Amino acid sequence: MQYRINQKNGDSISILGYGGMRFPTRAGFIDEPKAIELLKKAVESGVNYIDTAYFYHAGTSEGFIGKFLAMGYRDKVFIATKMPPWSVNAKEDLDKIFEDQRRKLGVDVIDYYLLHALNDESWEKFLKYDTLAFLDRIRREGKIRNVGFSFHGDRLTFKRIVDAYDWDFCQIQYNILDEFNQAGKEGLQYAASKQMAVFVMEPLRGGSLIKKMPAEVLAAYEQAAPGRTPASWALKWLWDQPEVTMVLSGMTEMAHLEENLSITLDSTPNCLSDAEKKTVSDVRQIYLSKQRVPCTGCQYCMPCPFGVDIPRCFDLYNSKYLLNQKNMRGFYWLQMAGMNGKPSYASLCRECGKCLTHCPQQIDIPNRLKEVTADMESVLMKPAMRVVGWVLGIQKKLAKRSKNSPKL
Ligand code: SF4
Ligand code: SF4
Repeated sequence: MQYRINQKNGDSISILGYGGMRFPTRAGFIDEPKAIELLKKAVESGVNYIDTAYFYHAGTSEGFIGKFLAMGYRDKVFIATKMPPWSVNAKEDLDKIFEDQRRKLGVDVIDYYLLHALNDESWEKFLKYDTLAFLDRIRREGKIRNVGFSFHGDRLTFKRIVDAYDWDFCQIQYNILDEFNQAGKEGLQYAASKQMAVFVMEPLRGGSLIKKMPAEVLAAYEQAAPGRTPASWALKWLWDQPEVTMVLSGMTEMAHLEENLSITLDSTPNCLSDAEKKTVSDVRQIYLSKQRVPCTGCQYCMPCPFGVDIPRCFDLYNSKYLLNQKNMRGFYWLQMAGMNGKPSYASLCRECGKCLTHCPQQIDIPNRLKEVTADMESVLMKPAMRVVGWVLGIQKKLAKRSKNSPKL
């Protein structure tokens, strides 16, 4: 196993971390014997970082990892978990959730603690509830060692958040396709320049970069290095970059874990030759040539006065074709219809034209959004979301009423 140093505190972190979102399951629950076997193999092979979150595996991932730690592994790993913005609706929720996490994990101290899935909206929400003061306090009390955030927004928001606090680390979605998307390479280098450790999530885009790949991609890899696996190309591309501290992988099968462990062995900074980097860049071009809208995610068109998240609409629409993800429509529903509060789907566009003059790619945004609407939004989506909004509204009212009612 290779290790890289967190410049902020000297922690020596394995370049492969274990993501607690994709443990093997049986009948909808974590298959604990199988998952324990995987974790044991990982830790005994040198993996020393386990990442989880409050809602992974319907809220059972932290409790399961707590059981694993209690089997004599607590001192062998750094443990990381995250505060979910969608569950915080009052300042007191921060303490409630955090104490629940410590109880489930069975630890006094959480080594790496993150604000989960930051973007412009969730960041504002955390600020509203004074979350930075909360983080300062629990760190002072010795309950967490390192403070960071995971991120799914745009580059400008990323830099704004990096500059807003003395973070120890961050976690970004980064892979051969996302070099210029979300935080991207620019964000990676920006955070590293501030001595923050940078952890990478979605290194294989949820497995899509190694499954159902276009024939041209397979041919390009095979021609460059016969027999080398797509996972090896994708992971080595990450570990080649010295700014990447660690790559998280949610390994469901022993074969995945063993393959990843073997790839770590010679994955040092600057391990790729120029020819290999060119192969990855060619592969990226093949993928990008399959995208429907040439949007780079630069955000210059934002904000839309009618609330459309233009780059996200194009990103999800592209992903459906780029990665052959037929279930993308359901994901689009969840993401764009207001899971975090504000709907931002394509059909909110009123064709005002404000965004048109800002797009460096000269995309005919209102017309391309109509294409997204036709393809991604079924006739049932909006009525269904109205029902969901109505149910959530009732739940909120009931929660407020029970908070205000006198205690007996
Ligand atoms: S044209 Fe549509 S997407 Fe563009 S700013 Fe106006 S409403 Fe928003
Ligand atoms: S300005 Fe154009 S390229 Fe940039 S995010 Fe908006 S649509 Fe995409």
